[in-house]
Amino acid sequence: MEPNHSPLKTPLDPSKKPLGQDAADSMLLDAAAGNQEKRQSLEIIEEAREKTYKYKSFGGQLFMGEFHHQLVFPFPEQTAEERQLGEDYTEKVMDFLRHNLDPDEVDATRTIPVHVLEELGKLGVFAMKVPKEYGGLGFSQTNYNRVVMHVASYCGATAVLISAHQSIGVPQPVKLYGTEEQKKRILPLFRQGKISAFALTEPDVGSDPAQMSATAKLSEDGSHYILNGDKLWCTNGTIADIIVVMACTAPKLVKGKEKKQISAFVVDMKTPGIEIIHRCEFMGIGGIYNGLLKFTNVSVPAENLLWAEGRGLALALGTINVGRLTLPAACTGAAKLSLSIARRWGTERIQWGMPIGLHESGREKIAYIAATTLAMEAITWLTASWADQGNVDLRIESAMAKLFTTEALWKIADMTMQLRGGRGYEKASSLKARGEVPYPVERIMRDCRVNLILEGSSEIMKLFLAREAMDPHLKMASPWLNKKSTPVEKRQALFKMAKFYSTWYPKQKLTWLKQATLPDLGELTSHYRFIERQSRKMSAALFEAMLKYKQKLELKQMFLGRLVEIGTELFAMAATCSYAQHCHQKNPANPSPIELADYFCWISRRRIKAQFAALCDNDDELTNKIAEKVVKKDFRWLEKGIEWIGPDC
Ligand SMILES: Cc1cc2nc3c(=O)[nH]c(=O)nc-3n(C[C@H](O)[C@H](O)[C@H](O)COP(=O)(O)OP(=O)(O)OC[C@H]3O[C@@H](n4cnc5c(N)ncnc54)[C@H](O)[C@@H]3O)c2cc1C
Repeated sequence: MEPNHSPLKTPLDPSKKPLGQDAADSMLLDAAAGNQEKRQSLEIIEEAREKTYKYKSFGGQLFMGEFHHQLVFPFPEQTAEERQLGEDYTEKVMDFLRHNLDPDEVDATRTIPVHVLEELGKLGVFAMKVPKEYGGLGFSQTNYNRVVMHVASYCGATAVLISAHQSIGVPQPVKLYGTEEQKKRILPLFRQGKISAFALTEPDVGSDPAQMSATAKLSEDGSHYILNGDKLWCTNGTIADIIVVMACTAPKLVKGKEKKQISAFVVDMKTPGIEIIHRCEFMGIGGIYNGLLKFTNVSVPAENLLWAEGRGLALALGTINVGRLTLPAACTGAAKLSLSIARRWGTERIQWGMPIGLHESGREKIAYIAATTLAMEAITWLTASWADQGNVDLRIESAMAKLFTTEALWKIADMTMQLRGGRGYEKASSLKARGEVPYPVERIMRDCRVNLILEGSSEIMKLFLAREAMDPHLKMASPWLNKKSTPVEKRQALFKMAKFYSTWYPKQKLTWLKQATLPDLGELTSHYRFIERQSRKMSAALFEAMLKYKQKLELKQMFLGRLVEIGTELFAMAATCSYAQHCHQKNPANPSPIELADYFCWISRRRIKAQFAALCDNDDELTNKIAEKVVKKDFRWLEKGIEWIGPDC
């Protein structure tokens, strides 16, 4: 299982412009105005996007001004038996890791030893989410998250390895989209300890996978595909036994126009023609086996095509939608560890005659870390329970959960480092060597930064959420806007819209109107009422912006970003209140969950208020103007006086 990487074949050529620079030079700012490539990407993504909601979406309803409290309250609970199963298994895995894996050594040597991976395989870690009928452990999302949360609090790289394999690697898409034959053939491999990976990203294609260039050409006899292309940053890619690869198959002719088809394949890594060009090294999660892979005429049996030709991007998006539920668990594990460090150090360290955690700026950090950790945990368990119940459409909530918890952990890591002062910046191994407790704060910080980038960056999450938030309005307006609609269809659509919006819109504006209908939900009812009122205010603001900006709203990323942040905060408040009440009910003698949730809601309310204010009072226009000038090199003078190492451009 040793990483089998050949020497680096892509040295930095100083005469070469950076990736995509030519495109950037020519497109500059008209990119934002919508060019051919962007239109094509949007069309492909739109086609891959799930268009219907089979079940209710809590977040989707919030964006329409509806607070479906029944979905969050009372908080869904695991059975005692199921919880015990998860806790016992977590302890088994942790007991092994505690005695066999030193996370600082993993970080320093960039190695998770082979014997550790083998033992994890024997314990069934790589088959946690594989159904029992295919030889797996058949864990629920909640118990899988329980394991990942605990592992992440110990060793970030090991958590990423497990999650990249199981949340997005081969088990997940095969489980979701595989045929019965594929499930029977592939899923049992993971109980044998096989490790997998997910290969979507390419050197020129990150957030915009529709532009990928890897190809898979069907052989003449239809028995196999010939795979060619490069895949970048494939986590587990350098040690994986089997991976899922997205590539372009033959384009389809639709109304005389060629349409790009992206398809997904399960690929055995022993197949000739696969090269590991480079094992990538990152700022954090040093032990992950992540690489640049090259495929040259790799033969993939036709029976390894997943779902159908042309469904590869939909498969990737669908897989990541569910896969995203695990990152919140990993982030919560690291946040809990940070809370523990912040509390201990905040009490132990005396400066200026007082524990540093009791100076007011220390209190501010400790209180923020505790309240935010509660919110992160609430979101993690709530979304996992919804996934297990299978009766809530989760695509909006998983994006909100990813956005909220990854951003929150980054702030928590920053605050914990500040509280620890110089010791926060010192490596755990150095602290240990001079006899201090090796709190790994700098490792947590390095490990968690990437979470804002992978599995959909924060910016892409906001765009995705904005698109979903607008969806009900776009659906209603589409027959009216569609140039191909007949006059009768247009008139019917207009009538339907007039009928709907004449009651819907006033309801959103009169925020006090429905307040009395929300039942008493216990100690935190006033916060639930706030959620209900603000969701209406938010939906009205979105609707008004759609009328004002029309198609140009898509380009108003700062405006839309504020709205989806409000929605995400409201979701976090609802999850936190309900979770706190659930914890309190379990242990009535302890009122602290309610107190902490109340505090979280107040800080969240202030953020929401600030975002609403910024919808009207902002510097967006000036920001856009300045950014344009920076890109056009108007401020190049400011870059003088430094040593520049890249190509001149
Ligand atoms: C450690 C690590 C592990 C990874 N593991 C995997 C893996 O297992 N499999 C895999 O396929 N990929 C993996 N990736 C790739 C990861 O998913 C991408 O990094 C991510 O999709 C972003 O792509 P990019 O880095 O090319 O950034 P780009 O797409 O180039 O984006 C750069 C910046 O621009 C922003 N941006 C891009 N488009 C827009 C837009 N339309 N509007 C506003 N802002 C925008 C982005 O948010 C980002 O901040 C991994 C990456 C890392 C670093």
